[in-house]
Amino acid sequence: MTFTPHGKHLIAGNWVAGDATFTSDPAHGPAHDFSVGTPGHVDAAVEAAEEAFWSFGYSTREDRAAFLHTIADEIEARAEAITEIGTQETGLPEARLQGERGRTTGQLRLFASHILAGDYLDQRHDEALPDRAPLPRPDLKMIQRPIGPVAVFGASNFPLAFSTAGGDTAAALAAGCPVVVKGHSAHPGTGEIIAEAIHAAIAKCGAHPGVFSLVQGGKRDVGTRLVQHPLIKAVGFTGSLTGGRALFDLCAQRPEPIPFFGELGSVNPMFLLPAAMEARGGEIGTGWAGSLTMGAGQFCTNPGIAVVLKEQAETLADSASAALKETGAQTMLTDGIAAAYRDGQARVSKGTGVREVLTTMCDQRDAKPFLYRVSAADWLADEALSEEVFGPLGLIVEADDLDEMRAVATALEGQLTCTLHMDDADLKAAQSLVPILERKAGRILANGFPTGVEVSDTMVHGGPYPASTNFGATSVGTLSIRRFLRPVCYQNMADALLPTA
Ligand code: NAP
Repeated sequence: MTFTPHGKHLIAGNWVAGDATFTSDPAHGPAHDFSVGTPGHVDAAVEAAEEAFWSFGYSTREDRAAFLHTIADEIEARAEAITEIGTQETGLPEARLQGERGRTTGQLRLFASHILAGDYLDQRHDEALPDRAPLPRPDLKMIQRPIGPVAVFGASNFPLAFSTAGGDTAAALAAGCPVVVKGHSAHPGTGEIIAEAIHAAIAKCGAHPGVFSLVQGGKRDVGTRLVQHPLIKAVGFTGSLTGGRALFDLCAQRPEPIPFFGELGSVNPMFLLPAAMEARGGEIGTGWAGSLTMGAGQFCTNPGIAVVLKEQAETLADSASAALKETGAQTMLTDGIAAAYRDGQARVSKGTGVREVLTTMCDQRDAKPFLYRVSAADWLADEALSEEVFGPLGLIVEADDLDEMRAVATALEGQLTCTLHMDDADLKAAQSLVPILERKAGRILANGFPTGVEVSDTMVHGGPYPASTNFGATSVGTLSIRRFLRPVCYQNMADALLPTA
């Protein structure tokens, strides 16, 4: 089944277009025209979302769970067409798109069972103590309530699982918040077909049409209007540090500031401890190369830095570069991302004391891996070397001893993940690193690689800035629903006035 996008926005149940269009820039296959979004489209979508909140925000958990399942069904009904347009627009392989679709529908269904279980409401009750001295205690009940319309900026690197019906949208809808998605200009057709699936689910479930809108981009004023609209109550974002920071600042500057849940950048450092390196340094190097090149390195959890003792760096460099050499060119998501990868590679290669291990080519939209080495002292002296390079570039940081490894850990910015490779004999060294890493990252792993994020109850995909703009939150897993809820305490309220949940 071939899908030909019509290029319109979905606003409050209607497909609408303006005069101006932009043309998509697919990795392969036909380009299509899409209507350029305007602040007027944003206003119409957000006003409809606010109107929808008065029913959707008070809907039963059973109705919302059924809605989430229906969205998943409608996505599955369009499976082949989604893979086709998704592959064309992003250059990601078919198998990856198929897997990501499963993750997207699985996520929607997981949120359905999560809200049915009800624990997320965190209901609390302090019973009245009328005879307490010196003051009586009133009856106090607390429950989590949905916050209102939510804006979502999808990710370029996950056109399904972190985009139109991705984790942010699923969490917000599960909470009872209508969603307005700003379509990513790297995959507007994929966004459109997913919006079509949500549109069909709205009709089947009889939900208010303002529950979901998609406004395509084309110009930056769509995003800026969306985060500044007074009726928007929170923003979910995955993307660049620059773009995310600009939108975060706009949220903070509003007359009524709102939370901006941005997932920005991370280099996901790995600390390779001596006994583990001694026992299986070559294996670790090969595994690192696999994780580094997965999806052309375009994962937020890509492990860009490996910290190792100087005398063990050769083993790591040899095994990683042997595996990386076998990796062919991979298409990157957009020309802009490929250009940013080349800029990042140039920045790293010019760093003081940086030595080449493997340099390749990165032509137009095709990425090949790069591998460099630098001493921990030089790395510590040059902040630019700690910045994310989005793509398959690895940097080996060579420490003189464990104290210097800890100094590297201490100097890190906030991360989504930090990884330890360790054997039993490394326990003491690991114990001295974990308290430092806990303060740096949302997830700490032992003897694994950080790419591959489980969607589950315990997952934390977030971390101190710049990994995320809100270190108390996660953008993956059921805990992510908390971003779109607000506790309300009801004092001495009759049951008839309390939320039905
Ligand atoms: P991006 O440029 O930050 O764009 C993300 C979204 O925000 C897009 O919808 C974009 O609109 C919008 N946007 C960005 N800056 C804006 C601004 N100043 N005002 C209004 N809207 C704005 O990210 P990207 O295109 O997805 O990828 C570019 C870079 O982001 C990559 O090279 C990589 O460094 C980083 N990245 C990081 C992650 C991660 O997981 N941490 C994931 C993907 C990408 P348009 O569609 O109009 O551009």
